[in-house]
Amino acid sequence: MGEIEENATQQQWGFDTRAIHSGQQPDPTTGAVVTPISLSTTFAQDGVGNHKGFEYSRSGNPTRSAYESQIAALEGAAHGLAFASGLAAEDNVLRLFQPGDRVLLGNDAYGGTYRLISKVHTHLPWTAIDLLDVDGLARDWPPDAKLVWLETPTNPLLRCFDIEAICSLAHDRGAVVVVDNTFATPYLQQPLPLGADIVVHSATKYLGGHSDVVGGFVAADDDGLVQRLRFTQNAAGAVPAPFDCYLALRGAKTLAVRMERHCSNARAIVDLLVGHHAIERVLYPQLPDHPGHRAAAKQMRDFGGMVSFTLQAGRDAALRVAAATELFTLGESLGAVESLIEHPGQMTHASAAGSPLEVPDNLVRLSVGIETAADLVADLGQALERA
Ligand SMILES: *Cc1c(COP(=O)(O)O)cnc(C)c1O
Repeated sequence: MGEIEENATQQQWGFDTRAIHSGQQPDPTTGAVVTPISLSTTFAQDGVGNHKGFEYSRSGNPTRSAYESQIAALEGAAHGLAFASGLAAEDNVLRLFQPGDRVLLGNDAYGGTYRLISKVHTHLPWTAIDLLDVDGLARDWPPDAKLVWLETPTNPLLRCFDIEAICSLAHDRGAVVVVDNTFATPYLQQPLPLGADIVVHSATKYLGGHSDVVGGFVAADDDGLVQRLRFTQNAAGAVPAPFDCYLALRGAKTLAVRMERHCSNARAIVDLLVGHHAIERVLYPQLPDHPGHRAAAKQMRDFGGMVSFTLQAGRDAALRVAAATELFTLGESLGAVESLIEHPGQMTHASAAGSPLEVPDNLVRLSVGIETAADLVADLGQALERA
């Protein structure tokens, strides 16, 4: 089968089938069912320039190709590109833009994204905006804006934004829309069919899913855009090692079943938190009064495994609760099988202090894992008694 024909067949497969089969045919020489980890940095050529599709591993590697096809298929994308980290993927995307191109950044976003745009890509002016207010954005659209950077649900406040409405406005004004789909994953939300130009991921989180590999991913449909992204992927060289590609590919095979359990466990935790005397506010996209609930209900299959909440008794109570759990490990990162708890103000989002993206200091963020729900509820329940 030609590549285009093969892609068409694979797009008709269900999500779980694509996770396990896209890009992963048995090895033609040995029959190995599991994608081999190809460590070779160079590939023999039959004659000068006459090769089997691989020349040098920075430019292309068989394990990476399998993984790139797999995740592209999950996003419903024509193309996928793997990177050494989520931020390397974001950096590759930001290199598409020219000095003076303005970035519109949601006013709640991953702290590292904010740092990359404001401290590294200093030639790109940026404005932090409230993406919940699409009409306001249409009214006050800065004429030099060339890129909307959209995270939904956001990290750590879990706000959700209407991907379709924002893409339609941005395209009308000649801007590109990038969606950071790390929190939702392609199982819960597919931004490209909703109009996004580029999807980025920290594969370190749910795609890898086991807290054992750092990685990033870019998915896109437009051939011209992808050609430029591939040029920079090779020219700047922030590619992942074959072993990392193998780990992420292996992790993503079980994405659907993991996400279902993450979502149902998160609901059990939300049931504990809503109405609890120590809690000021529960942040979870399924709650009807949550900012962006309607957008989430429209564009997501389910509401995800991340839950945030604020404490009535303020910052010290938040710090006490974060330190008092036993099953929820105190640590940064998210999206893996084990449950994690953290204090964004002093941990993941410390770099946003004093900026428009600063987070409340009584906020706690949970990455709800796939352990037995009752055990997680009991653990968080005892920790909340210390609030
Ligand atoms: C972690 C994260 C990133 C950065 O990814 P790394 O793999 O840590 O470089 C980007 N966006 C979101 C939403 C994240 O959670």
